[in-house]
Amino acid sequence: THDVHIIGGGLAGSEAAWQLARRGFAVRLSEMRGSGERTPAHQTDGLAELVCSNSFRSDDDEKNAVGLLHHEMRRCDSLIMAAAAKAQVPAGSALAVDRDVFSAEVEARLSELPNLQVVRERVDALPESGATVVATGPLTAEALAASIGRATGAESLAFFDAIAPIVYRETIDMDVCWMASRWDKPSKLRGEAKDYINCPMTREQYLAFHQGLLDGEKTAFKEWEANTPYFDGCMPIEVMAERGVDTLRFGPMKPVGLDNPHWATPEHPNGRWPYAVVQLRQDNKLGTLWNMVGFQTKLKHAEQVRLFRTIPGLEKAEFARLGGLHRNTFLNSPVLLDRQLRLKSAAHVRFAGQITGCEGYVESAAVGLMAGLMTAAELAGREWTAPPRTTAMGALLSHITGDAEAESYQPMNVNFGLFPPLHEVKKKQRKEAYTARAKQDISGWLESLAPAA
Ligand code: FAD
Repeated sequence: THDVHIIGGGLAGSEAAWQLARRGFAVRLSEMRGSGERTPAHQTDGLAELVCSNSFRSDDDEKNAVGLLHHEMRRCDSLIMAAAAKAQVPAGSALAVDRDVFSAEVEARLSELPNLQVVRERVDALPESGATVVATGPLTAEALAASIGRATGAESLAFFDAIAPIVYRETIDMDVCWMASRWDKPSKLRGEAKDYINCPMTREQYLAFHQGLLDGEKTAFKEWEANTPYFDGCMPIEVMAERGVDTLRFGPMKPVGLDNPHWATPEHPNGRWPYAVVQLRQDNKLGTLWNMVGFQTKLKHAEQVRLFRTIPGLEKAEFARLGGLHRNTFLNSPVLLDRQLRLKSAAHVRFAGQITGCEGYVESAAVGLMAGLMTAAELAGREWTAPPRTTAMGALLSHITGDAEAESYQPMNVNFGLFPPLHEVKKKQRKEAYTARAKQDISGWLESLAPAA
C-alpha cells in the first residue's frame, strides 16, 4: 500500500518522490528500466539518467533564468540539485556533472528513505484511482501514452515537437516591422486588426534568405527518430524551401493582404505588399514572447541566429527559444491541466516533467519538485499556494498551466520572457532586477511550505 504512485523514475519522478517521501508519505515509484525495458535514448537502468548532455546549463543565479531556477530549487531542498553538487565537474560558470555519479547519488539518497519503494515495472495504463504522478518523460512508453491519449483526447497529446523560434518582443525593430492582420481582419481578442508582427522582405532579400535556408547546416534526426512524420503545418522551413523557390511565398511567408505602412507613398497611402513577409504571433499572455509563425526547423542553432537576423526588423533579435523538431511526448497542458498540474478530467492524476511541456533537465526536475509539493499538500489536507509568478518556478508553472498560448503550445525552457516584465528598469540592469525580485519573493513563499522531515 502507498499514498502516492509515481510513474517514471527520471529527473521529475525522482525529485517528486524525494519531496513526498521526505514529508512522510508512502511512495511507490515505478520505473520500467531495470525490468528489461529501455527507451530509445536511455542507456542504463539508473534513476535520473541524463540522456544527452551532462550539463544543467548556467549556474549564474544573478543574470540567468536557469541559474535562478537552480537557486530556488536548492532552497526547496531539491534532490536533483544536491546530487548535482556531489557529482559536479569543472565547466566554467555552468553546472555540469559526472552522469554516473549523479544517477548513483540520486538512487542512493532515495534508497535511504524507508517509506519509498522503487519498483522496476512498466505501467501500461493510468491508475483508475489514488494519488498519481505521471512523470514518464519525452519518451513515454507506447501503451501508457495510448492510455493518456484516451483520457485526454488524442489531439491533446503530441509525439513530436515542432518548435518555431521565439523572439523577445523588446528586441524586434518596430521601425521596420509593423503590426497587422492579413486583409485587416479584425481580431477576436484585440478588436483592432493588429494581431501579428510583420517583417517585410524585398525580392532580393527573399531570394538571399531562401538560398540561406538551402545552404544552412542542419541537425540530423537520430536513428530512432528517422521516421518522423511531417504533420500538416509542421514541415521544417528548410524542407519547404527545397520544394521550390516560391513555396514559402505561398506558405508561411505569404505577403498577400499585408500593406506595409512603412512603404506608404502618395499613390499608396496604406503602403504596399512586400515580396515576402515573416510573421510573428504572440506566444504568452504577458506579450513578451513572439513566435515566428511556421518557422519550425532543424537548422543548427548558430545557423538559425545568423540567418534569422538577416530578416528585416530582426537584426538585433534575441531568442528565448530556437527552433527544433524531435520525438517528444507532451500534453497540451494549458488546456488539459489545472493550475496544480492535475488532469481536469481526472483530478487524481497529476503530470510532472517534460511531458507537461517544459523543456530541459532542470525544468523537468523543477516541475517534478512542484508536483511533489502539491501532492503533499493535497494529501495533508493543506491549501497549496503556488510560488509567486515573479520566481523562476512560479513563472514556469504559470506558463505551463495556462499562460502559454494553447494553440501554439510547444516545449519551453525557463527564460526571463516568462516573468512579469520590469519595463521601468533599464535594459542593462533588468536581468539582475528579475533575479533580485525572485529571490526576495521566494523567501516568503518557502515559509508557507510544510517542512520536510
Ligand atoms: P525522463 O528523465 O525521460 O524520465 C522518464 C522516465 O520514465 C524514464 O526513466 C523512463 O524509462 C520512464 N518511463 C517511461 N514510460 C514508462 C512507463 N510506461 N512505465 C514506467 N516507466 C516509464 N534536456 C537537457 O536539458 N539537456 C539535454 O542535453 C537534453 N537532451 C535530450 C536528448 C534526448 C534524446 C531527449 C529525448 C531529451 C533530451 N532533453 C535534454 C530533454 C529533457 O530534459 C530530458 O529528456 C529529461 O530527462 C526529462 O525529464 P523527465 O523526468 O520528464 O523524463
